[in-house]
Amino acid sequence: MRKKIVAGNWKMNLDYAEGISLFSEIVNMVRDEKNGDQLAIICAPYVHLNSLAKLGGDTVSIGAQNCHQKESGAYTGEISAKMIKSIGCEYVIIGHSERRQYFAESDELLAEKTVIALQNGLVPIFCIGETLDERNNGSYFDVLKSQLENGVFGLSTEDFSKIVIAYEPVWAIGTGLTASSDQAQEVHAFIRKEIAAKYDASTAEATTILYGGSCNPKNAAELFAQPDIDGGLIGGASLKSRDFTDIVKTFN
Ligand code: 13P
Repeated sequence: MRKKIVAGNWKMNLDYAEGISLFSEIVNMVRDEKNGDQLAIICAPYVHLNSLAKLGGDTVSIGAQNCHQKESGAYTGEISAKMIKSIGCEYVIIGHSERRQYFAESDELLAEKTVIALQNGLVPIFCIGETLDERNNGSYFDVLKSQLENGVFGLSTEDFSKIVIAYEPVWAIGTGLTASSDQAQEVHAFIRKEIAAKYDASTAEATTILYGGSCNPKNAAELFAQPDIDGGLIGGASLKSRDFTDIVKTFN
């Protein structure tokens, strides 16, 4: 059985007090409503992480939204995987399309970040996704395959089996346009097939693949009911405690 995960990505939202308050609400609500087998994660801005890690307990795990690709050194303003791990954080989002687009993060750089995260005991949530043009011109399978090949398929089977993949079509992020459950399932099945071809069938079966892009309490049930969709990476709806908890509850 692979892990079912609902992960919130707060992006660059909420000041410190707002973050603590929202997270406390989420912990209380999720504690009452989730069943034992699923994982709830909040990926928060760096300055929130230390406090959230202490508040989350066994109920809500904590993730960062990025890390630097080097172990340590003269990289003013950067945060290392080791620092993130040292405050009790377990996950890190790597390769979000906003980082690829606004910070010019290449597949090769993201491969380095994935390795350093794993070396420091963090679980990478590795994001891939196509743009609207790539969807419309039919090149999306090629795009996704090359993001996988250059980003994570250099990992050993043992390391690959520790990571989570998130499929986030760029055209569905923050737009209110969700991939239909059929569109998302088609891609998730493709990703699993590529993992089986690169590694083996049991590694593919065990890999958690999340869907992200305008996922909300109304569409989560249909998306998560698909055989290859193992949960969601939630942006806007993770900024509302009720919406996030309702998405977590979808698995009950
Ligand atoms: P939205 O849920 O706001 O579309 O964002 C998705 C996302 O980018 C999560 O990482």
